[in-house]
Amino acid sequence: MQPAGRPTPGRHLRIAPSPLPFPTFADIAMKRPNLVSLAFASLLAAVVSGCYKVPVTGRKAVNLVNEKQVTQMSIAEFDKMKARYPVSRNRDQVAALNRVGERISKVVFWDMPDAEWEFVVFDVPQQINAFAMAGGKVGVFSGLFKIIKNDDQLASVIAHEIAHVTAKHVHERLSQQMLVETGSLAGTAAVIGTGVNPLAGSAVLGAYDLSTGVGVLAYDRQKELEADYIGLIYMARAGYNPEEAVRVIEQLEAESAGKPLPPAWLSTHPTNPERMLRLLDAMPKALEAYRDSGRKVEPVLVR
Ligand SMILES: [Zn+2]
Repeated sequence: MQPAGRPTPGRHLRIAPSPLPFPTFADIAMKRPNLVSLAFASLLAAVVSGCYKVPVTGRKAVNLVNEKQVTQMSIAEFDKMKARYPVSRNRDQVAALNRVGERISKVVFWDMPDAEWEFVVFDVPQQINAFAMAGGKVGVFSGLFKIIKNDDQLASVIAHEIAHVTAKHVHERLSQQMLVETGSLAGTAAVIGTGVNPLAGSAVLGAYDLSTGVGVLAYDRQKELEADYIGLIYMARAGYNPEEAVRVIEQLEAESAGKPLPPAWLSTHPTNPERMLRLLDAMPKALEAYRDSGRKVEPVLVR
């Protein structure tokens, strides 16, 4: 969960204000010996404040990007998607997505407290895919409904996509890009310190990797498996049967049978059998969350 009142990264490289409206020679002279340690402390602060804990798994990850900026850019990209693709008028599909989306969004409330949820079915029957973006924007391509048999299965897809958002996989990817581009952690801290905007819209869109399309996973192996695990717990907490998540992978596997993927992709992404095995590993925990969701058990009064 995102801790409330987290300091903005830009603050850490500023020197405490002088009691006079301008720095005096004495101020500068007194501060100078500390500049190196100050820079180091600032770097440390940037790194420490740039760590966050992934919900459900508790993994510690790096987040050096400006969250508000990523959210704003994501919303702008979502608006572009709405302009680019026809929005579905299929009442059943739209109702199913809203029904499932509402329940999942309640479960992730504390992981995305600022989300302004929006669930859109895009009428693109050849695309078996869905995505979620920072700010609570969720899109499903109508092709997905070809392989989805019930609300539980739709919930598993939506929960997986939302898990990528609550785990801040896009933020992590952008942070890693910044580290590569600026050459070092110190360079990144300096960029953050200057307040220069290091993010471009294309970088944000690239981080979502929406170009891959058609049921192809957008992130690397570890992030996909993490989203599978977090999504499984989310759907169960929302009262959807987690066992249906395995069936969705089976159906995806059947759909993609005979469609070869490039070897480079296979070496960096989990295979469907691997995803299924990992889901089955996590199933006891998910079933416990499912039972605790209150849909299957009557409350027991202890006197
Ligand atoms: Zn994914």
